[in-house]
Parts: sequence; C-alpha cells; structure tokens
Amino acid sequence: MLLLGTSNINKVLEFTRLLKEIDLCGLRDIGCDIEVDETGVSYAENAAIKASAYAHETGRWVLSDDTGLEVEALGGAPGIMSARFAGTNSTGSENVTKLMADLQGEKQRQATFHCALALANAKGEVVLTSHGMLGGRILEEPAGEGGFTYDYVFFEEKSGCTLAEMPTYAVDRLSHRAKAVREIKNDLLRLLKED
Ligand code: IMP
Repeated sequence: MLLLGTSNINKVLEFTRLLKEIDLCGLRDIGCDIEVDETGVSYAENAAIKASAYAHETGRWVLSDDTGLEVEALGGAPGIMSARFAGTNSTGSENVTKLMADLQGEKQRQATFHCALALANAKGEVVLTSHGMLGGRILEEPAGEGGFTYDYVFFEEKSGCTLAEMPTYAVDRLSHRAKAVREIKNDLLRLLKED
C-alpha cells in the first residue's frame, strides 16, 4: 500500500481517482500526525522533504505533493506560501479572503497552479519527481461547491468554469495534480511492483 504524505482528504480522494491501479492511504488512515516543516524554497524541495520525512517515520513508500497558486499581479504570490498566505495556521477560507482583498480592483487576474510530486522509497530516498501546471484566472466572486480552497475562485478558460464547478472527470484530465501524476505514473507503478 502506498502512503500519501498528506492529511488533506480532498487530495487523498483525488490521488485515489488518479492512481486507481494501487491501494492508497493517507496519513490519517494510519494515525500518523507528525508535523513536517516545509522549509524548502521550491515546491519540488517541499514535496521531497515531506515524502522523505514520512517515509523515514513510517518505513513505507510515500508519495507527497506540494502545491501553490501563483498570481501574476501579485508577483507570483502566494506561491509556496499558499498554505500560510493569511498567516501561520491560517485556514483555506482566510487565505482565499486575503487573496480576494489583495486583488481588489485589479483587472489583470491571470494565475497558475503548480504541483510538485515526490516519491520516496521506504528508506526515505526520493526516487521520482514531477511537476504539473494549470493556467487560469482569479474570479471576483467564488463559484462552485466541489474541490477545496483556491478552487472556488480559480477559473479555467477552456472549460468556462472554476475548478470547484468542474466535474471530477474533467478535473482529473487537466488539473495540475493530474498532469504531475501522469508524468510519473508508469515509473511509479513499475517501482512499486518491483519492490
Ligand atoms: P499544500 O500543497 O497542501 O501545502 O497546499 C498549499 C495551499 O494550497 C493550501 O491552502 C491548500 O489548501 C491549497 N491547495 C493545494 N492544492 C490545491 C488545489 O488543487 N486546489 C486548490 N487549492 C489547493
């Protein structure tokens, strides 16, 4: 069973859809509540730090992601600070509220989701990495019920809706996380089979 280095139930559900071929569990499923400091300066570094730390802690293979939203008009913020945009321990809705406030009156609202993945083996060595992106723009009002955090305000032009309004089959085709998973999927399945 592959451990996902996350306690976020939305991410666990998304990875479960994207990696149907294997059994997955999240940190909560195995009662793992260690906090890992995200001290990296990039998504890739943070994904690797988390995968490696949870693998060391549990002795399991671990797939971790680090995701952020980069808004052009804000010089790329919140970026790797996406989880702490409104302050340490801020909630998703506080982060979205700050984003909307910072963009008040702004006409240029282009933004990009970035997702880095890292797979660590049971010894904590990172053996696979990948990166996926999705472009769009930030709406002035949230829309939709699905997804989480920034999904409610992130509008994807070709689909004509926010990620929170999009059916999951479409999210799984085009999301930043789906692209990152597709990039390593074959190698990931092979490595787990060989182990
Ligand atoms: P992290 O990757 O869990 O550190 O997430 C950073 C921040 O971005 C947190 O506030 C998450 O809730 C948010 N976030 C992560 N992935 C997504 C996504 O796919 N859609 C919307 N928000 C996300």
